[in-house]
Amino acid sequence: MKGWKIIKPFLLKESESNETVDSTSISKVKITKALITLSDVLRYSDELDGESVILGNSGIGVISETDANLFGLEKGQRVYIEPIVTCGTCENCKKGDDSHCTELKRAGIDFDGFLCDFATVKAENLFALPDSVADFNALFLDQISLAISVVDKLKIQKGDYVAIVGANNFGNILAQLLIYYQAVPIVVTNNLEDYKIAKDSGIYYVLGPDDNWQKEVANITSARMTKNVVYISDCDIPTTKAFALASFNAGIAYTGVSNKNNSVSFAQAIKKQLKIYFINNKHGNTAASINLIANKAINLSNLKLDTAPYDKVPEVLQNMQKTLEEKGKIYETVIDLV
Ligand SMILES: [Zn+2]
Repeated sequence: MKGWKIIKPFLLKESESNETVDSTSISKVKITKALITLSDVLRYSDELDGESVILGNSGIGVISETDANLFGLEKGQRVYIEPIVTCGTCENCKKGDDSHCTELKRAGIDFDGFLCDFATVKAENLFALPDSVADFNALFLDQISLAISVVDKLKIQKGDYVAIVGANNFGNILAQLLIYYQAVPIVVTNNLEDYKIAKDSGIYYVLGPDDNWQKEVANITSARMTKNVVYISDCDIPTTKAFALASFNAGIAYTGVSNKNNSVSFAQAIKKQLKIYFINNKHGNTAASINLIANKAINLSNLKLDTAPYDKVPEVLQNMQKTLEEKGKIYETVIDLV
């Protein structure tokens, strides 16, 4: 089993996997597609901490070996591999309350990710994919799971306005989920391409780089502003822009697909007494996310992304890093492994 491991900043090497197989509940999965996200690119350029592991945040594959008695899993089955696993050693995990694990581990950061030929995975972390969930859509299950966490945390109700500050692919997914839940997303973006993608995805309120966001949101909400704001930290928009769209005592979700470090100026948030939630935990939402795609609640066909073969991974990361530096933003790349 080998894959593209981060050796040091700006250097990937095709290396053997770290995994040791010592459990009977392990299946071997042939990876068919993996996703390179902003998180991988930040790992590559040393802007995000992590272990020296195989990169790749999200992956799907086909079971190549499994114990016949395992949860109905069988050889040849198409599966999504849960990229976030519980630690098994924190106080909550030891008590058997692993849904409150305080040390969740993430693929491509804490343990080997999916830019590899095979992965050994515990049966509990494998999800069989229905035929109605295409490979490409399955690669975004992790982002859909995060969107579900945001909706849960902010306790968003039918009819609520929700400003989404930053419109990367995740912002787009979140907006569609909100529409499905009959809330009213207002997507704001400083990027013209994202503006068009959001419009093409059927999102009604989209504010672009030329709009006065505060004024427009005031117009849309009859001057009430929004009681829910989602700030997507991947997008490099000043947080003051997000706070400006919030009503007094509004809830702000600070989230994103990468754990990118941003500077925050809190003066306005304090004045408005905003409730800020930092949301990263999406563990436990995978089955619900698969269901949302199967029910066509979210349409990912307009998302922007590139594709490349496995042997081009080092060049892909190099180019993505360069694009990020020059343009301040990147879209995901799907790596094809078959
Ligand atoms: Zn734990």
